[in-house]
Amino acid sequence: MSLAERLARPEILALPAVDIAGAPVAGTIRLDANENPFESLVSGQPAINRYPDPQPAQLRQRMAGLYGVPAESLWVTRGSDDAIDLLIRGFCRAGVDSVGIVEPTFSAYAQFARVQGAAVIAARLTSDLEFDADAVLAAMAPAALKLLFLCTPNNPTGTPVDPADVRRIAAALPDTLVVADEAYGEFSNCPSLAAEAGPIPNLVVLKTLSKAYGLAGARVGCAVADPSIIDLLARVSPPYPLPGPSIAAALATLGPERMPVHAERIARLLAERDRLLGQLGDTEGVRRVRAGGNFLFLEVERPEELAQRLAAAAIRVRFRAKAAPGGVRVTVGTEAENQALLAAFGLTREAGSSRRAEIVRDTNETRIALAIDLDRAEPRRIASGIPFYDHMLDQVAAHGGFSLVLACEGDLTIDPHHSVEDIAIALGTALKQALGDKRGIGRFGFALPMDETRAEVLIDLSGRPFARFEGSFASAAVGGLPTELVPHIFRSLADSLGAAVHVRVDGENDHHKVEGCFKALGRALRTAVALEGRGDALPSTKGVL
Ligand code: PMP
Repeated sequence: MSLAERLARPEILALPAVDIAGAPVAGTIRLDANENPFESLVSGQPAINRYPDPQPAQLRQRMAGLYGVPAESLWVTRGSDDAIDLLIRGFCRAGVDSVGIVEPTFSAYAQFARVQGAAVIAARLTSDLEFDADAVLAAMAPAALKLLFLCTPNNPTGTPVDPADVRRIAAALPDTLVVADEAYGEFSNCPSLAAEAGPIPNLVVLKTLSKAYGLAGARVGCAVADPSIIDLLARVSPPYPLPGPSIAAALATLGPERMPVHAERIARLLAERDRLLGQLGDTEGVRRVRAGGNFLFLEVERPEELAQRLAAAAIRVRFRAKAAPGGVRVTVGTEAENQALLAAFGLTREAGSSRRAEIVRDTNETRIALAIDLDRAEPRRIASGIPFYDHMLDQVAAHGGFSLVLACEGDLTIDPHHSVEDIAIALGTALKQALGDKRGIGRFGFALPMDETRAEVLIDLSGRPFARFEGSFASAAVGGLPTELVPHIFRSLADSLGAAVHVRVDGENDHHKVEGCFKALGRALRTAVALEGRGDALPSTKGVL
């Protein structure tokens, strides 16, 4: 008998599997699910007239790969909230079994337990809001404790639970499922325990796409555990828990070309978290600031008053008088939002501004994700699929003095054309978006010679696309980049950026000539996008650009 069978509610074990229509089989006529046979009238949402896959194999595989676990050990859920609910419904008998928590913590554990009629046994963090494994073990009477939720890092206090403590607690409570909720794990230094769920038979790990992957509205998460526990969750699951558009959104956001932008966003949020931590820590009335997840927990003398004061400045933060009376939880926002928060604390008067843009662009030929920041030089991480083009784009960003994170999954097996062109379009679009209304920027760029090559790029961010390329190449390709595409890149960029771009190049060595063009572009852009310290003047007598 598996651990899951031993711990599960007997009536769940006795249930037959839910009776639903089978997965679609190609070439068959589907008259088995009482669906409407006509395509939905919602554009961009194909096939939502059909019920979705109850457990989408491709997404399950992708999430398993993301977390480094076998697919049969992972069950995709409607947010990790749903995983919490499934665990409690599958394992806790009303009026008999109990659920352990360590307060203050995420309210859903106790809420779902009470809905199910399970008792809640609560341990507490120390008075310093630290996790004390011995105190937790002492508080848990193991008799009918079916589940123990350990949130790491903890919501709302940010307290991490050392993985060694989780292992020790799981070993000490062999008849309890120890659930490590890693909803905020991507924002923590603590290594994930996902790969140990299964090898440690009573360990379950919860993950979500709501936080680090920005998909709270799609409701996608998962539980990782021994396959016998997963089988049990499947029995309690509703027939079609995941809406088709959510499955599609999850697969899109987890595309390999999206991952560098996710990583850059996480790094940015952590840098912002540190900035807020540094500034708010020194504020009067703030006793201590704890960082964890994508939020801060401010221990303050009068938290309710603080929450009200911030609300008056139209900033909503979380204060829970009963559950976490000692402090206020503040989510890390965009730079501009965080700046508004600091202003509400009287710590700055400057409004936050950010010349940053993110572009995702998917066609049948390429999938591109790109983040650009004109006011930061780092990071630069470029993966176009064509190493020489990476090098060229890196020249543009390095000499342009801006950060560029770009990844493309393109149809390179056909030829580099689509990737090269679409990246140029995405880059131009991103530059245009990041420049915003162009107030405060210089209008013209210029360039200089390089070795025996003379390369010149002149740019006017006029809003009127125009491209001229004077120069030719003797070789058909340089480093896998067809030279005929070089003028085309500048043209695509001019079109999507809305700029006049004039390029002139002559020399003897084609590598130098191509590289010279991109370097010159970077240098020209550096001048063209630089804020000139003239406030918000528009560099045009027209008054618009
Ligand atoms: N666990 C924790 C600790 C949370 O804070 C949250 C959301 N606030 C969740 C789980 C649920 O997240 P979701 O259902 O969006 O995956």
